[in-house]
Formats: sequence, structure tokens, C-alpha cells
Amino acid sequence: MSFDKMEELIQTRKEAYLEQLFVLLRQKSISTQNLGIYECAELLKGMMEELGINTRLIETKGHPVVYGEMINHENAFTLLLYGHYDVQPPEPLEDWVSPPFEPTIREGRIFARGAGDNKGQLMAQLLGIKTYIDAFGDLPVNVKFVFEGEEENGSVNLPAFVEENKELLKADVVFTADGSSHNSGSPLILLGVRGMVAIELNAKGSDWDNHSGNTGNILPNPVWKLIDLLQTMRDRDGKVLIKGFYDHIRKPSEQEKELLRSLPYDAENIGEKIGYPSLTMDGETYYRKLTMEPTFNICGMESGYAGEGIKTIIPSTATLKMDIRLVVDQDPIDIFNKVYQHVEEHAPEVEVKFLGSMHPSRTSADLDIVKVVTEAVHQAYQKEPLIQPSLGGSLPDYVWTKILGAPSIIVPYANFDQRNHSPNENIELDYFFNGIKSICHVIHSLGEFSKNS
Ligand SMILES: [Zn+2]
Repeated sequence: MSFDKMEELIQTRKEAYLEQLFVLLRQKSISTQNLGIYECAELLKGMMEELGINTRLIETKGHPVVYGEMINHENAFTLLLYGHYDVQPPEPLEDWVSPPFEPTIREGRIFARGAGDNKGQLMAQLLGIKTYIDAFGDLPVNVKFVFEGEEENGSVNLPAFVEENKELLKADVVFTADGSSHNSGSPLILLGVRGMVAIELNAKGSDWDNHSGNTGNILPNPVWKLIDLLQTMRDRDGKVLIKGFYDHIRKPSEQEKELLRSLPYDAENIGEKIGYPSLTMDGETYYRKLTMEPTFNICGMESGYAGEGIKTIIPSTATLKMDIRLVVDQDPIDIFNKVYQHVEEHAPEVEVKFLGSMHPSRTSADLDIVKVVTEAVHQAYQKEPLIQPSLGGSLPDYVWTKILGAPSIIVPYANFDQRNHSPNENIELDYFFNGIKSICHVIHSLGEFSKNS
């Protein structure tokens, strides 16, 4: 009954575990095309039941959630595992070396749609639970499983699902294995994401485009209207001038600042990867700006004529789209209202449209549970994990931190070059088996932690 036994079980079961993953990979489950979703949900349910997990499908307004639980003691510490069984479309098919839904091993990797994102990581979680029980006899904590079928379609029904099932999903910590490891090969621990609010601004002048000579100085130009408005929203240093924009931003703790300082950084290398070789800022500034500060980004602007040559007109309309990335505890609706209010005051004739939003999330790096999981991942990989307090991008992580009210920790099991969403998606065999080990160690450590607290 030990980690030696765990290692031995994984070694002797390699073939069998791979075959289980392959069964899941062979089943299409393309959420945006509604292809094979129910078949996959049923298949996964059956596989989970075979592992002894009490499982059922829960309907949502979209695709069903596969929900499972292993409850030992009603009041025991509870770990919730989140993942998704849907995949991206495989197109363009001609770029695949082997067919996307026929898993194939080459060069130490499993190639298939979903191998990394997210079926490989999801199966590692499930097989890890099985391995743990067979090695140690019993689970030391309760485990709940939420596998959704719409992640690749923006998790549109996940917030409502969590809201409606708060009692059922009640957990002490949420653990997600999705995404890619760090490109250095180190295991990665993510503690949050930035949120977002998307906004459109529309300015209107005359009813149609007019001759810029014959009506010059007579008609208002909506492009200038937007430019004037934008100048009131942000100063030349990038500071947002909208009243209250920075009000609710949570300051990083000393521990989080320390984590940002210890993340690997190579300006030249990053500059190359993002097509901006003149990137010169230092690492601390880079990570602070990327994870702890909001953005005020213009993502598109359209008006008049910008084709070849020149067309001498006064445009009749101008449209601007913005995605504003938010950090905890900024609220997307509050920020939208503040932008709206600002426009009302400075250019009431400009129309403001709400295009969508997502809350930011962050689990404090100071929590004991974060230390416990970090140490467990360290043990599993025999390599110190990198801890990133937040992603620059947005994911619906707030459904756990804000709606469910539980800390949420993301540990990607897939290799950095998993090519998710692209042809020849893959997961390295070592990464798959390390994922199995990883969840075994996490469960064991959480068991010890809950005993002691
Ligand atoms: Zn994906």
C-alpha cells in the first residue's frame, strides 16, 4: 500500500490504460457541430461506472454534464475534478498524418483529436483515481467529477449548471487538468484568469457618406467623434480615465509578487514568439502587466474608406470594438456601466453596446491548500512546479471561485506542444502517465491535509 505500488500498477497497466483512453478518443464529440455528443457522454458515463464511480448525466440547456461522485463520508473533505469531453472540429483533415479519431502512437506521443484537450487529461484523472484505490485501498477524500460537453463552445451553460447545483457540487477545492505545461517542461500551476468585458461603440454623422469637399466643415465626422471620446477615456501613458475603473482591483500579496518574480522570462525569446522583437521590459513588469493589471484594448475599428487610393468622403458611421481584460475583483457589469456612464457624460450621441463578459478569478497563493497541491505535484514530477497566479487570458474559472465559492487550482497535464485545436493534436505518453501519478499524489496529500486540519 504505497507509492511504490502505484508506480508498479502504472507500469504493468500501461497497455490497458492506453486502451481505455483510446476508446474515448475514438468516439467523436464535436460540440460546435453537435456530432457524437450524447454517444460520448454515455460512453464516458459507462467507463466511470466501471471504475466504481456513481455517475449520471445531468441535462443543461445545451449538452449534458457527466456528473460522478465517490462519497465515502458525508462530511469528509471533498475534491471536485473538472474537465470536458467535447473536442474541437478536426478540420483541415488532409493535414493529419493519421486520422483524428483513430488514436495512433508515434515518437512517444498519442495522436488524436482530444488527446491533449481534454480527453487525455480527463482519463488521467479517472485512471489516477483507480490506481490510487488499488494501491492504497481506499480514497482518503470524497471526489466529485464534473465533465462538461460545451467547453469548446465557450462553456455557455456551465455558470447556470453550477448555480443550479451548488449543493450537489459543494467542494473544498476544485482541481482542473486542462491546457499545456510550461515550455521549459516544468509542471505548471495556475491560480486564476483575467476576466473580460467586450464593448462596441457606434458613432453616427449624416445618413450616408457624403462628398468631403461639397459638405466639408458642414457635416460632423463620426471618426473624430470616437477619437475625441477615446482621448477622454485613456491618457497617453495608458492610464484609464473612466471614473472608478481601478476601484476594486485586488493588490497582489507579497507571496504572489514573489511568484511573479520567480517565473522564467526571456524577453528575446518571447518577443520572437509574439512577433515583437523589440520587447524590452523586465520580467517582473511583464508578468505584473499580464496577470495583475486590466487592459483597455481596442480590437477593431471600422469607418469610411481605407482601400487603394483615396475616396474623398465624410463617413456616415464609425464603429469601434473593445475587449477590456479584467482582474479580481473588477466586475464586468460594473465596468460596463462605468464605461456607459462615461460615454453618457462625454458623447451621449454615441451608442454603447454590450457584447459579452466573463468574470476574472483568482485563488490566493497564500492558501494552505495551494501549498499542499504544489508539494504533491512536485513529488509526482520530481521537479519543482512553476506557479502562475493568473493567466493573461480568460476561462470560466469564476464558476468555481465565485459561484461555488471554492478555491480552484489548474494543473495542465499535456505537453507544451500538444497542438490542441490544430491538426496532429497529441499528448506525450510520459505526460499522460505523469498526469495519473499527479492526481494520485494530490489525493494522497489532500487526505493528509484534511486529517491534520
Ligand atoms: Zn480546447
